[in-house]
Parts: sequence; structure tokens; C-alpha cells
Amino acid sequence: MKENTNKNYTTAELKMELEAAGVRATAQRVAILKFMRENPVHPTADVVYEALSDTIGSLSLTTVYNTLKLFVEHGLVLMLTIDDTFRCFDGNVAMHAHFMCRSCKKIFDMPVPDEVRVFAGNMDGFTADDVQLYVKGVCKECNKKIS
Ligand code: ZN
Ligand code: MN
Repeated sequence: MKENTNKNYTTAELKMELEAAGVRATAQRVAILKFMRENPVHPTADVVYEALSDTIGSLSLTTVYNTLKLFVEHGLVLMLTIDDTFRCFDGNVAMHAHFMCRSCKKIFDMPVPDEVRVFAGNMDGFTADDVQLYVKGVCKECNKKIS
């Protein structure tokens, strides 16, 4: 799994990644995957659409949403259902936990405790391929404002 740094992804790299996952590489898919890989900020489909609609004139919100769902099916991005009022996506598919602030609604990446990794890898004949750990509360910044 690729680490999410501030790296820029080339079209060739993204095409290879799509094809390796069994997804036909179209210009729109390459652009959406590039945005997801370079912006690990848990965007909703609307945010991705807003960011790309200026550069890709023919893009529609439906296309963005369907593409993200296709990527989820092929393991290229994660769908987060941490809040049932919105659905967001994560271009970082390495195992990590999420914290959602109830006050500002921001979603933060958190490390997964070793115990959870051990648990997921040792389930007596069951095989885990997706582990989501959602934590909710109040973030550091919002706690400062409250106190
Ligand atoms: Zn907050
Ligand atoms: Mn994340």
C-alpha cells in the first residue's frame, strides 16, 4: 500500500494503478484518483466534483460519485460511513483509524492500536479484509474553544 505523503502522482503511475486494480483507465478516472491520492482529506463526492469540475468540463456529480464507488469496489479508495448524514471517501487505503469531531465535523486520521491489528489477523478461521475503527468526540482545537 502506498503511503500518503505530499507526493505528486504522474498520469502513468495512476494508469498503472487503475489497471492493476482491474479498472479501465479513462482520463476522468485518472483525474479523480489523482485528486484522491494527493488530497487525503476525506472529501465527499461534492468536494471532489467542485475541485475538478473547472478543469474537466464534461464532469458530472453523478460520474464522480459512481467513479468513487467503483474505486471502493476495487480497493482503490475507502468509503467512510463514520457519520450517517454524509458519506466521504479516503484516498489513503493503508490501515488507519478515524476520529470525527462532533463540533467541527472534521475527520482526523489516527493510528490503529496494535491490539486491533493482532485481533484482525487472528480470528480463528475468519479472514478480515476491511477493519474500520471510528472514534467520535471533540478535537483538540474545539476543546480549546470550549475551555
Ligand atoms: Zn473540532
Ligand atoms: Mn483517513
